[in-house]
Amino acid sequence: MSRPALIGLNADIRKLPRWGVAATALLTYVNAIEQAGGVPLIIPALTDRPALEAALAHLDGLLLTGGLDISPRLYGQRRHPATRLAAPRRLAGDRALLEAALDTDIPILGICMGCQWLNVALGGDLIQDIPSQVGTEIVHAPRETFHPVRVQAGSRLAAILGREELEVNSSHHQAIGRLGRGLRAVAWAPDGVIEAAEGEGERFLLAVQWHPERIVDRPEHLALFQALVAAAGERRE
Ligand code: MN
Repeated sequence: MSRPALIGLNADIRKLPRWGVAATALLTYVNAIEQAGGVPLIIPALTDRPALEAALAHLDGLLLTGGLDISPRLYGQRRHPATRLAAPRRLAGDRALLEAALDTDIPILGICMGCQWLNVALGGDLIQDIPSQVGTEIVHAPRETFHPVRVQAGSRLAAILGREELEVNSSHHQAIGRLGRGLRAVAWAPDGVIEAAEGEGERFLLAVQWHPERIVDRPEHLALFQALVAAAGERRE
């Protein structure tokens, strides 16, 4: 490999107390990409299509980060009272980035909101509020908690993890509902909530509902970032 893989990650948009509005990325994502051998590059909520295409032309992989909720209008639902929308600039930037990225073959790893984005961008929908819409005793949120997931045997995810049973952290109140085009569910919580989906084809498309970037001290979770970086490197060669 002549140079390490360049992995773009979408920024969150946050108001800082004294300085104004910032395009930021949590260092847990940045560090996880670095630890996996990639070079993280933050994409600051761009919406101009040619600009995004220019950026994507230089990137080898894409990480879709977590955040608040996606507009339910984008998947044909009315807003549930518990739905808390992300900043409009973030939503616009994420949507434009994902539309441009899906027109290429760039490998994509989606985490939490990023998992939900990938599903919505491919025409799927979401469960807007697990506690009120799914009869479940599993705690998925709001404080970070852990629960088991079952991973589909023979899936790309199972190959990456090297296992079919896994403990994951959980910090979400939404989840994948109807699956998007070309995606299949590959991991479930004990209550049936979809915890991961992946592309059915050769392309590396992987979406996980938990937060592996917070637990990269566990090798099976670091392996998700290593898999993205490896797929990004292979595509460039
Ligand atoms: Mn969960």
